[in-house]
Amino acid sequence: MEAIADNLAAIRQRVDTACLAAGRHPSSVRLIAVSKTKPAEKIREAFDAGQVEFGESYVQEFLEKQQDPLLGHLPLQWHFIGHLQSNKVRSIIGRVALIHGIDRLSTAEELSRRAVQHNIRAEYLLEINTSGETTKYGLKPEELLAEAEAFFRLPNTALRGLMTIASPDPALARLEFRLLHNLLDELKKTAPDPSLLTELSMGMSQDFEEAIAEGATLVRVGTAIFGWR
Ligand SMILES: *Cc1c(COP(=O)(O)O)cnc(C)c1O
Repeated sequence: MEAIADNLAAIRQRVDTACLAAGRHPSSVRLIAVSKTKPAEKIREAFDAGQVEFGESYVQEFLEKQQDPLLGHLPLQWHFIGHLQSNKVRSIIGRVALIHGIDRLSTAEELSRRAVQHNIRAEYLLEINTSGETTKYGLKPEELLAEAEAFFRLPNTALRGLMTIASPDPALARLEFRLLHNLLDELKKTAPDPSLLTELSMGMSQDFEEAIAEGATLVRVGTAIFGWR
């Protein structure tokens, strides 16, 4: 038996402690409960314990959960944190608060086209490969800075910040989080509206405290809340 409410309380406590240790206000970090592969009942349990923001990685699974009668009427905020392919953009447009996993201009262009059609503003983050591991998705840091202007120009979109998945080793991860923070600072210098660039989505069950120390504003925690997948 997993006590989701207990796990959530423990994680929130650790988030608060990490914030205070970093001289940050606890409200400056939002906890996203990553519910991929977990059933709607578990999400409901987390919601009943006060959790509102959830992260999903797979389009089909996300759409099914969003329509689940257990959840359909709840004021949940969904984050799409998986790698997003262009041909899946139309399935999730308008259904998510924030898309974390865009890693190329062509996908952002498709997002922009669909957002124009829906007459909405789509908010997204760019995924950056901060570890240099070839198995990981993400723009290279130098690509980000070279292409930034093209992203900024896309109508009906708002680039809100950066996302990364760090190396398994927490000491390495910490350096990668620092790199992401520095990249966001660089990006702000060229942005038409730097005040939009507020988000650093970094840190998971194993390393969210390191991420908070380096400035994370969104931490994505799955296993430590819902148990092993
Ligand atoms: C699965 C996943 C998480 C959560 O990872 P845990 O180690 O279970 O906390 C966070 N971010 C992304 C992008 C994921 O795919």
